[in-house]
Amino acid sequence: MRQLKGFKLSDHTTLRVGGLATTVCEIQSPSDIQDFVHEYGNQDFFVLGGGSNIVAPDHEIKTPIAFMQLVNSSAKTDGDFVEINAGSGMLWDDFVADAVDQGLSGVETLSGIPGTVGASPIQNIGAYGTEVNSSIKSVQLVDGTTGKSRILTNEELKFSYRFSILKNLTSRFIIENVTFRLKRDKNSKITNYPQVAESLGINPGESVSIKELRNAILAIRKSKGMILDSKDHDTFSVGSFFINPIMEKDKVPTNAPMYENESGKVKTSAAWLIEQAGFEKGFRLGGAMISSKHTLAIANSGNATAEDVIELSNLITSGVKQKFGIALTIEPRILKF
Ligand SMILES: Cc1cc2nc3c(=O)[nH]c(=O)nc-3n(C[C@H](O)[C@H](O)[C@H](O)COP(=O)(O)OP(=O)(O)OC[C@H]3O[C@@H](n4cnc5c(N)ncnc54)[C@H](O)[C@@H]3O)c2cc1C
Repeated sequence: MRQLKGFKLSDHTTLRVGGLATTVCEIQSPSDIQDFVHEYGNQDFFVLGGGSNIVAPDHEIKTPIAFMQLVNSSAKTDGDFVEINAGSGMLWDDFVADAVDQGLSGVETLSGIPGTVGASPIQNIGAYGTEVNSSIKSVQLVDGTTGKSRILTNEELKFSYRFSILKNLTSRFIIENVTFRLKRDKNSKITNYPQVAESLGINPGESVSIKELRNAILAIRKSKGMILDSKDHDTFSVGSFFINPIMEKDKVPTNAPMYENESGKVKTSAAWLIEQAGFEKGFRLGGAMISSKHTLAIANSGNATAEDVIELSNLITSGVKQKFGIALTIEPRILKF
């Protein structure tokens, strides 16, 4: 297990904030996980993937960090399906690109999401009508105290919108790998996303190749600042900072968008609520700003601190609460070391 020196979290998080971390271990193999747990399992530790869903504090961080770089992968065929076991440190979009190249469908709609394979089940990443839970068979994780390995099945993970039980566990586990079940099918169905269908020149519900769909999604995401780009400050973010509220239909404010949800409640638009509460795209507080392309993204205009980001988030949530009485939930994890 290699120790990394001079590791600033601002260099390893997509928001580009966070102080120097004094103890960072590169995890490249299952035995590195065991070494890490052996060494640090008796204290608080943190597991870092691509740093695309966290707000790291500005000060020096002494909490030991396991930096996931485990990129092994194996596959086995099961009829029309292929089961791929992927190491948690593999970049999510590399995994998607490989699947699409191999003619395996299931995750193409999730193209362009930053971060790692290991983090994908934690908040059940989703975009354009697909959530990763529909392609996950199981997750293998290591108990951060005992070093014992455990496999959780899809059912046991209790996935829902931006949620799995992993989100509620404290940092006492390390995901080693994730097993996906993808279908041999070069075509994909566009479900309920007219914008995607329109950009492909087809009707919603019609089929296109998974390659075309991936390219269309990448282009749409780019126009919204949702593809990492070192030249575009709008992308120095964690993606959506706020989750779309799920609520009783009669509690949704007049004129707010509403989408059916499997829970029997409806999902409304956090972006609409934020805009109606008076926060426009481009709104700034210190070095933090609302992305000029996407109301849900808080971005770093260049010199933001974690404090600026949190202050802007608090200002937005209290503005929405005051105007509509709705408490917005934030998506990233705010680290309090
Ligand atoms: C531009 C942009 C666009 C985005 N678009 C989307 C989107 O469309 N849909 C969506 O759902 N999300 C989106 N996100 C959010 C983010 O990319 C995902 O949540 C991603 O899965 C986070 O992965 P990560 O490896 O960066 O996790 P990190 O930020 O490193 O960590 C997030 C949490 O997961 C834990 N963790 C990470 N790896 C492990 C592991 N191996 N074992 C145990 N715990 C672990 C960390 O401890 C932390 O609590 C976007 C982010 C950005 C910056």
